Amino acid sequence: MSYPIRKFDAVIVGAGGAGLRAALQLSEAGCKVAVLSKVFPTRSHTVAAQGGVGAALANMGEDSWHWHMYDTVKGSDWLGDQDAIEFMCREAPKSVIELEHFGMPFDRNDNGSVYQRPFGGHMQNFGAGPPSQRSCCAADRTGHAMLHTLYQRNVRSNTHFFVEWMALDLIRDESGQAIGVTAMEMETGEVVIFHSKAVLFATGGAGRVYASSTNAFINTGDGLGIVSRAGIPLEDMEFWQFHPTGVSGAGVLITEGVRGEGGYLLNKDGERFMERYAPNAKDLASRDVVARAMATEIKDGRGCGDESDHVLLKLDHLGEDLIESKLPGIREIAKKFANVDPVKDPIPVVPTCHYMMGGIPTNYRGEVVAPNGDDKEAIVPGLFAAGECACASVHGANRLGTNSLTDLLVFGKSSGNSTVEFLKQNVTHKDLPRDAGELTRERLERLNNQTNGESVAEVGAALRQTMQKNCGVFRFPDLLVNGVAEIQEVEQRVMRTEIGDKSKVFNTARIEALELDNLIEVAMASLVSAEARKESRGAHDRADYAERDDQNWLKHSLWFKEENRLDYKPVHMDPLTAETIEPKVRTY
Ligand SMILES: Cc1cc2nc3c(=O)[nH]c(=O)nc-3n(C[C@H](O)[C@H](O)[C@H](O)COP(=O)(O)OP(=O)(O)OC[C@H]3O[C@@H](n4cnc5c(N)ncnc54)[C@H](O)[C@@H]3O)c2cc1C
Repeated sequence: MSYPIRKFDAVIVGAGGAGLRAALQLSEAGCKVAVLSKVFPTRSHTVAAQGGVGAALANMGEDSWHWHMYDTVKGSDWLGDQDAIEFMCREAPKSVIELEHFGMPFDRNDNGSVYQRPFGGHMQNFGAGPPSQRSCCAADRTGHAMLHTLYQRNVRSNTHFFVEWMALDLIRDESGQAIGVTAMEMETGEVVIFHSKAVLFATGGAGRVYASSTNAFINTGDGLGIVSRAGIPLEDMEFWQFHPTGVSGAGVLITEGVRGEGGYLLNKDGERFMERYAPNAKDLASRDVVARAMATEIKDGRGCGDESDHVLLKLDHLGEDLIESKLPGIREIAKKFANVDPVKDPIPVVPTCHYMMGGIPTNYRGEVVAPNGDDKEAIVPGLFAAGECACASVHGANRLGTNSLTDLLVFGKSSGNSTVEFLKQNVTHKDLPRDAGELTRERLERLNNQTNGESVAEVGAALRQTMQKNCGVFRFPDLLVNGVAEIQEVEQRVMRTEIGDKSKVFNTARIEALELDNLIEVAMASLVSAEARKESRGAHDRADYAERDDQNWLKHSLWFKEENRLDYKPVHMDPLTAETIEPKVRTY
């Protein structure tokens, strides 16, 4: 029995900021595009972005894309590809103004220009300071405004949405070209083959590999699992960003915009400890730096509360008016999840898993690249990726706040344009291989026929604990080795999961089991890559190799599912037009 087939020019998996921005390019170019999403588009995680989108508009002081580029390279701890970073920082102002013209309700200055707030790691004068006001925002609901704007624009251009459809596996023909996906309609449980000429992944992050995360429950790294099962490597998966300010106990995010507006962190002695760790940038140092400072304060017994397990974020001095106008969502979150009103009391916060710097390897045009013979970056025909699931790589070893939304706009558009170009050259559908859909059928049958298996919830919890314990803010050699062994055991358990309910209609148990198949690839890639990288760089901080080692490790990791093997490729040190920003010691 073969699955029913639906034909489109292109399939986009994911309807967050990146997927919607890419879809717009395709729809407006007259391509027949299907956009698949596990949730209604405006419920994608982009909706939760609070702080803003980075672009050197210079509305509130001097700024330039070149300074933005410098900060991003430095923020990445020199692991970011400088061609992609230049491209993003140069395009950012245009992308934001374009979004403004789409109707995005940005906050305004008195003269009508877009309001911009300072954010961690964004400075004037090539890092010398003072902080630059670069984050364009709509109060503390920037992602919400952006996602709705992009969705409406897609409705206007008749993009075809498949809502509550989950993509399961990639289909490639004999030459390796991506020619479709299998996907399940959640409402009916039916599987369909989407047969296309090109496939674009925009499936977002995978923060749900950690027990404590700011990410939505749907952020399970599906795009990464899917491509790794199809033989494509995952890049730089050891680099996970811990956001300094997740609400203690709950994990819900308190935007860095709070510190941008003048809030700061305190330890149990009431000390503004960031002054010791980053004398210049203080609370606005890069995220990895602030998260490590907080973890160190807690580890050294200067944490707050009965368990000494968090620090405090103070913002009452900003006054109720500013909090209500610029940070209303934060006040709501603090009341609901921390039981404090930040107008009066500080918010208890801890570093929480927030963002995946690694992902599906692409170039700055959004084309997926993978090793082929001597070529470490051969283009995989018909396959594109953008947004958090992709690794262009602009964030390198550590992302600066506001640069993800910029990434979505710039690379959503460039990957959409590349897909349009590809479709012009490839006008007919390639034949489906005879075994199209076979992998999906095997996975579903295994799940339906499993007896004496394990519960998905329990195996999922084991996976998250393994990552949390062994691959956190600080990394220790014994824990990394243990972590690799433990995750291999978890992998065996994932292959034996069983669902009690075998019904078809809206069976969320089956969906969660299928998501676990993707989480395990992400976790395995992360632990194996982290154990192998013998240096400290950006978010990867090893106790046994405390320094960055450019001699041996200024290179990107590539993890292959097959044989659980690693390869490496050089970092692009040459920008497109600017001069190389040479590596130096990173201080704030
Ligand atoms: C709480 C929070 C606040 C943030 N604040 C900021 C900020 O202020 N500034 C900033 O720059 N960055 C911020 N970030 C990061 C940024 O928001 C994300 O990196 C970005 O929104 C990801 O966008 P995306 O389009 O790649 O994916 P998402 O918005 O996560 O969308 C993923 C899409 O893929 C779909 N999908 C996934 N798997 C499948 C599948 N198997 N089949 C079908 N569809 C699938 C989902 O349904 C969804 O539509 C924040 C992140 C969080 C969690």
